[in-house]
Amino acid sequence: MNDLWGRWTKAIDEELPAAIDLRHAVHADPRGSGDEEDTARLVARALGAGDGTRVAKTGRAIPLPGGDGPVVALRAELDALPVLEGTGVPWASGNEFMHACGHDVHLAALVAVCRAALRVGVPRPILALLQPREETSPPGALDIVESGVLAEAGVDAVIGAHVQPRLAHGVVAAVPGPVNASTDEFEVTLHGQGGHAGYPQLLRDPILALSQLVVSLQQLASRRIDPVFGAVCSVGRIQGGAAANVVPNSASAFGSLRLMRAKDRERALETLAEIVHGTARAYGCTAELEISPCEPVLDNDPALATGAQRWLSHGGFVVDDQFRSFGADDFAHYCGGGTRGLMLFVGLGDTAGVPSLHDERFLPRDQAVVQVAHALVAGYLAALEAPAP
Ligand SMILES: [Zn+2]
Repeated sequence: MNDLWGRWTKAIDEELPAAIDLRHAVHADPRGSGDEEDTARLVARALGAGDGTRVAKTGRAIPLPGGDGPVVALRAELDALPVLEGTGVPWASGNEFMHACGHDVHLAALVAVCRAALRVGVPRPILALLQPREETSPPGALDIVESGVLAEAGVDAVIGAHVQPRLAHGVVAAVPGPVNASTDEFEVTLHGQGGHAGYPQLLRDPILALSQLVVSLQQLASRRIDPVFGAVCSVGRIQGGAAANVVPNSASAFGSLRLMRAKDRERALETLAEIVHGTARAYGCTAELEISPCEPVLDNDPALATGAQRWLSHGGFVVDDQFRSFGADDFAHYCGGGTRGLMLFVGLGDTAGVPSLHDERFLPRDQAVVQVAHALVAGYLAALEAPAP
């Protein structure tokens, strides 16, 4: 197996110049969620193993010839974000979208890994998964899982790797168990009685009630969920009123509830409803609450994670076995329900001074392509060594 690592990574090195050109081409002409047709076509052509099967409307599942036994799917995301690019590189985006989440790097790495695999020959079949709509809801990963294409292809394990500026260059995180949070988005509207701002005794002020609600929601994480596992309840948007001297009839808040443990979800949603309706009542208002489930917890398969750790060390990476965040990724849908999943995080720089994911200046160096590629190989070899239970 050491021999396979050596031959495969050497072949990846040889694929690198073309992969970096592809990265620049994808970056220069990004497509938003649901509109990834051109990117999918470009990447599939570069991969050179045919068009495969169309998945989730604009995605592709491309089986590579060769190998035997349960299939290992390697996944990369196709979509960019509605961000105006501010990097100033010659290959910057020419439209209103930007690859500000590193998906251009992931796609180029996947192509290098697959082309190299075709050249060296690998023992287990690979399914290259070009996944659309990672950045939006309903997510592409859920469509792919629900379509049954993974089960049909005989996929046992799905491997993904994501660039991560919060980890130092040369570090890859391979963490067993939950690494990204589940997400539910919520929308609250409080209805009161509006009127003249100078006569508060005649009103039921929804702005004041909503202000208290935003504060009170913080007790959900601090007092209702075991802090060892944690929860985050953040309001990202509030809306209400049109003038300084008029209290409106209603006001709304939009936020997300994030959890690291699936079994906390019922209690957290009950608590959310209790705080919303209780606060509204205390201010003489009524409340409407709407919940939209987004992603489940991203739960890495422990055997895949520990297997990948060994290969990453072998490949000269510093391995992080602790990195978790309350970010969310639709990769979570591949972890369970018939397939095992492993998401690796590839370090880009020290924590200070590197723009974060989704920042208009976010620009991983080209070297990240080879690091993501090696991480995918480590995941593949881990799946080979740790057969499905
Ligand atoms: Zn991303």
